[in-house]
Amino acid sequence: MRPAPALECFACRRVLGRRAGHFLTDGARVLCSRCIWRGDLHLALWPDCDRRDHLPVDHTESQGTRAGTAAALGLWP
Ligand SMILES: [Zn+2]
Ligand SMILES: [Zn+2]
Repeated sequence: MRPAPALECFACRRVLGRRAGHFLTDGARVLCSRCIWRGDLHLALWPDCDRRDHLPVDHTESQGTRAGTAAALGLWP
């Protein structure tokens, strides 16, 4: 079986390491373990969300490995 494809963070475009935490948010966006805590990013990505105390992590649908996240996105296997 071919290895799971590398995924990049939607916000900072950093390629996530194979064992790095992958955060899948609503809208099928993948964020890295740094961007998931960025309050400014919550405002940018969810302009319609009026919860001022929110962080991107509050919109997380699943957290997993590269393989698990790629499978959830339908990119793999
Ligand atoms: Zn990032
Ligand atoms: Zn929100």
